[in-house]
Amino acid sequence: MNEHPVLIAGGGPVGAIAALALARQSIAVRVFEADVAIDESPRAATTHPATLEMLADLGLIDDLIARGLVARTFQFWDRPSGRLIAEFDHAVLARDTPYPFVVQCEQHKLVDLAIQCLSGLPNARYDFATQVTEVEAGADAVEIAVRHGDRIERMTGSYLIGADGGRSTVRKALGIAFDGYTFPERFLVLTTPFDFAQERGCGFRSYFSDPDEWANLFKVAGNDGRGLWRVVFPTLPGETDEEVFNETSVQQRLQKFFPKSGSYPIVHRNLYNVHQRVAARFSQGRAFLAGDAAHVNNPIGGLGLNCGIHDAVELASLLVKVLRGEESADQLDRYGARRRPINVKYVQEQTIANKKRLEAKDPEARAENFAFLRRTAADPTAHRAFLLRTSLLESVRAG
Ligand SMILES: Cc1cc2nc3c(=O)[nH]c(=O)nc-3n(C[C@H](O)[C@H](O)[C@H](O)COP(=O)(O)OP(=O)(O)OC[C@H]3O[C@@H](n4cnc5c(N)ncnc54)[C@H](O)[C@@H]3O)c2cc1C
Repeated sequence: MNEHPVLIAGGGPVGAIAALALARQSIAVRVFEADVAIDESPRAATTHPATLEMLADLGLIDDLIARGLVARTFQFWDRPSGRLIAEFDHAVLARDTPYPFVVQCEQHKLVDLAIQCLSGLPNARYDFATQVTEVEAGADAVEIAVRHGDRIERMTGSYLIGADGGRSTVRKALGIAFDGYTFPERFLVLTTPFDFAQERGCGFRSYFSDPDEWANLFKVAGNDGRGLWRVVFPTLPGETDEEVFNETSVQQRLQKFFPKSGSYPIVHRNLYNVHQRVAARFSQGRAFLAGDAAHVNNPIGGLGLNCGIHDAVELASLLVKVLRGEESADQLDRYGARRRPINVKYVQEQTIANKKRLEAKDPEARAENFAFLRRTAADPTAHRAFLLRTSLLESVRAG
């Protein structure tokens, strides 16, 4: 066993899960998180069956379900007409997985759960307010510099996992290209307690196609468990933060989405830049990239973090075998060789198609999309195949 710990840059969901997967196998880990506390901004919530299986192996499933909401179905709507086009039901996956549903659980709760588990493991340490600033991936070890306040410390690790998000310092330090593109529009997330299920008959995951302004609607449990709805809209290219966030414009967007008497109560308003990018390589020597550091995508379909957790679990499993001497170090090449094409095929392609489906402008293309969704939902074999792909089960079963 190598004498140095595995170092992890970034203690978001991917870094925290990678640490847990390693530490539960008695591998020493150190996680360095630049922020002073867990980031609670509304990002991922949808946790798919393939990921639930992995979180169950890590002992997190019961707590995740307890803190989230179980959603068996998701819906596609035509926004201009207000018609429900198709509904998909994960129950058709009952023979494929012990978890034929998604769990809507905010990503900050998953990080919190993972940190709690890490705190009970003697070989794991997680530090907030500690930023990785330099990386040198040598042949026999990895050296990093971490800044904690005014203090700079140098650390040596057996391996380094860069789980430090889309702007990854690790990826940049290794000189790995992050090719792809950024959308001109941003995604606005408005969070409200208004009950779209009771008032409008919407499911916990509802996708609205609209040639003028598509929308996504999700329910999450919220910190008090009483339930919050997140409505996601594209902004217009060039719209400023003030134009998007001012109360009049927020209310107009929501009233146009679903008119109601009185104004919508708003608990959060957040804006995100959205990209489709994949790192040219997922590793270099003893340093690896995982999660958003390796790939970013638009959130329609809820796949980015799910795929990042799959990276973390697969990489941890390989590292455990190599560090225990059960596999030779060259087996670590399998990580990038498998995970990069999986991301391109199952996450980049699917999220790009999801966005095109929602924003299609041509009436014929829209009609074809709706016909495809109705046909797929109505045919049990096609329904199952569609869900195997959207749930990422197909990607994890791929050899
Ligand atoms: C609106 C929205 C909705 C989404 N919905 C979903 C969804 O439903 N399902 C899904 O699968 N995905 C979803 N995503 C994507 C998901 O949020 C990301 O894929 C996920 O956050 C990636 O996790 P990560 O740990 O790789 O990166 P991050 O969450 O970005 O975490 C990286 C961490 O590294 C830290 N860090 C950065 N630099 C350093 C450094 N130099 N040193 C130390 N620490 C550092 C950061 O502070 C941060 O805590 C959504 C995204 C958005 C914007």
